Amino acid sequence: MPLIEGRLADIDGVRRAQIRIDDGVITAVGPDLGVADHAFNDDCLIFAGMGDIHIHARDDVSGKETYKETFDTAAEAALHGGVVHVADMPNNPIAPIDDATYAGKELHLLARRLPIVFTLYAGIGPGTRPLTRDIPYKAYMGPSVGDLFFRSLEQLEEALAHYRGRAVSFHCEDPLLLEANKQQPTHEQRRPPECELSATRFALAMIEKYDLTGKLCHYSVGEGLPLIRDAKRRGVRVTAEVTPHHVFFDTAQITDANRGAMQMNPPLRSPADRTAMLEALRDGTCDYLATDHAPHTLAEKEKGVSGQPHLDTYGPFVTWLLSQDFTPERIAAICSANPGTFVAPYQSDKFGRLLPGYVGSLTVLDLKTPTTIRREDLKTKCGWSPFEGVTFPGSVKAVFLRGMQAT
Ligand SMILES: [Zn+2]
Repeated sequence: MPLIEGRLADIDGVRRAQIRIDDGVITAVGPDLGVADHAFNDDCLIFAGMGDIHIHARDDVSGKETYKETFDTAAEAALHGGVVHVADMPNNPIAPIDDATYAGKELHLLARRLPIVFTLYAGIGPGTRPLTRDIPYKAYMGPSVGDLFFRSLEQLEEALAHYRGRAVSFHCEDPLLLEANKQQPTHEQRRPPECELSATRFALAMIEKYDLTGKLCHYSVGEGLPLIRDAKRRGVRVTAEVTPHHVFFDTAQITDANRGAMQMNPPLRSPADRTAMLEALRDGTCDYLATDHAPHTLAEKEKGVSGQPHLDTYGPFVTWLLSQDFTPERIAAICSANPGTFVAPYQSDKFGRLLPGYVGSLTVLDLKTPTTIRREDLKTKCGWSPFEGVTFPGSVKAVFLRGMQAT
């Protein structure tokens, strides 16, 4: 029954107090519960364990992509970054799209006995149907991944009609507009903002029409934010993720030397989009810091494979957000409470708040000890970070998993 003491940061405020954890679960929170086993000074903030609800661990029964990452290395990278639970995307060589393929991936996952908790998405593709279990779904619109994409929005609607009432996350890029722009000279021009805008209108219409609990993944276009605000105002059940790369980098920073590393889908946007997305994450238009951790090797990046690894750097990046006028309460919302709410239907542990009944997993950030990102410190198997050489203002001081100090 460890007793942990320090400045607790939750969605309703920051206060110095103690947390008692029994059998892995928070049983009491208060100013004076006893003599603390772990006490953190006022340079630190203790958050409910942070969650990254959009990652690609690349691991499945086929093992075809485990040269990039495995469940084990993704879990190590997550812990290194202060992340205690993740949700893994379904674009695997053997994509989990029905009960059998989903159970196969889950058995493979559970055999690893990982320190952190994984939630697995199932894919929606042409002709798929919902599983018998309640799990979250991912719909890819554009040609990102093998068989899991639709050639037209009509074809996607045909599939979505079967998923009424389910939780569906959308990768918003209109496949027809991608096709129309494929001769453009740069990656960013081949996937212009209109692709995401058009797909946003479609996704919001589908969420409303089929009563989905919708989520827009890695949102990147400032012009689309009024559509999200308006939908939320009308009571549409929609939330949105924002990645570290879309609020830290923009097209003005792309050079010939970093072009490969800076390629992802959707691509980097303009400086105006970058600042609009930062504000949207701060003001509540968007709901989650979710990384889209996409571990590809540097050799693949040079050949034009899209995506960046971000799990190792999650916590240090959060300290940068705190330096950008994000309050600790807002960080608690986008990194802990909202990801906890997202996975709640699928997990027995309750993640995301510093309250009795929630799991005793904690992320402790030190706001005064800077971190410089160095390749040799990374745990991700792909072995690189777009933040190498960047110094963030703070660091991950400790991670507790069910009351036990893990780092
Ligand atoms: Zn993704």
